[in-house]
Amino acid sequence: MNMTGYRCIRCSAEQGCDFAGFLCPQCGGNLDIRYDYAAVAQQVDGSLPRAPGDLFRFAALLPVQPARAAFPLRIGGTPLYRAPALAKRAGVRELYLKDDTLNPSASLKDRASAVCIARARDVGADTVSVASTGNAGSSLACLAAATGLRSVVFVPASAPVAKLTQMLAFGARVLAVQGSYDDAYDVCLAASGEFGWFNRSTGFNPFTREGKKTCAYEIWQDLDGRVPDRVLVSTGDGNTLSAIWKGWCDLKAVGLIDRLPRIDCVQSTDSAAISQAVQRVRPDNQAVVDWSAVEVQEVSASTIADSISVDRPRDGLAAVRAVIESGGEAVTVTDEEILRAIPEMARASGVFAEPAAAAPWAGLKQLVTEKRIGAGERVVCIVSGSGLKDIAGSRKAVGEPQLIEPSLEAVRECRL
Ligand SMILES: [Zn+2]
Repeated sequence: MNMTGYRCIRCSAEQGCDFAGFLCPQCGGNLDIRYDYAAVAQQVDGSLPRAPGDLFRFAALLPVQPARAAFPLRIGGTPLYRAPALAKRAGVRELYLKDDTLNPSASLKDRASAVCIARARDVGADTVSVASTGNAGSSLACLAAATGLRSVVFVPASAPVAKLTQMLAFGARVLAVQGSYDDAYDVCLAASGEFGWFNRSTGFNPFTREGKKTCAYEIWQDLDGRVPDRVLVSTGDGNTLSAIWKGWCDLKAVGLIDRLPRIDCVQSTDSAAISQAVQRVRPDNQAVVDWSAVEVQEVSASTIADSISVDRPRDGLAAVRAVIESGGEAVTVTDEEILRAIPEMARASGVFAEPAAAAPWAGLKQLVTEKRIGAGERVVCIVSGSGLKDIAGSRKAVGEPQLIEPSLEAVRECRL
């Protein structure tokens, strides 16, 4: 393992690999896992492996024992599609969709769950727990089932039925909390402490970021070593965005790239805590921000995009840092724009996204219109979850099938 320990995102205090906690013991901030990049650079020698096809091929940059590299399901290794029709429509030179709907539980969250489960096995845990708006829970349930661990999932009772059904099908113990995601989060934290479960909850467990960052490595490989100008990420608690940024920073730290993309945060106007913090915190010039003094203020979230509906972003500071340090933009789009984005993307690319996963496309159009993204840029949108996970949401935007009598005459009358 090339992991050297942990560093607090808020106060920079460092802990060694033997640290058994999850949050900074000095200030309670979130932790970032550190590596011996010089050692990694020597091992990878100018390129990252392409085989085997899952994310554990990047073991040199993961905080798990190499023996865990054998995982029963294929996590990651998802396609990067060029989307010329969408690029033309948005008005950018090149647009790519990173289709992470093709993970085992149909969302990007499988990357985080895989590394967390590998870690849980390293520390001898037999039960894994998580608070989830839906996707993290269905992901953990899926991967726990594949590896023989017990899973306990806390969700808000309002979670989409497809995600709840996935969890139950995979045999998780599902506790539907009568409250918000944030209520479920607090209950999961307390229960995991009481019963000694390995808590995968995002923004608490530093291992989630390590799994998700592999998405950036794959994009870089699939672009044949080119770095995109922008990567657009739909953002709720902020962990996926900070992970994508970390992935690119890792590549630079080991000498595989010499420039970094800008990371753009896309949120619903009805759940915009991180975007608001970026606007508030971003310095006018190149001034250095005192991150220990930055607070991401809570909002009252109500977006239809359940995966990014978050009052208190648990990895908010890391996400705000990532947007500002990468020179990216923070943009908000309405729920109506998010819903419209689903069929637009599906009809022009063949990729069916859940509301949160269609948000980057909605955000891209807005950023180009406002000239915050230029026509000459190479852009990647992360498609983080399948449209089949939330049919009730997308149905509002796709219309109804035409009802006909079973006759050829009826088809003729449709004037197809
Ligand atoms: Zn700290």
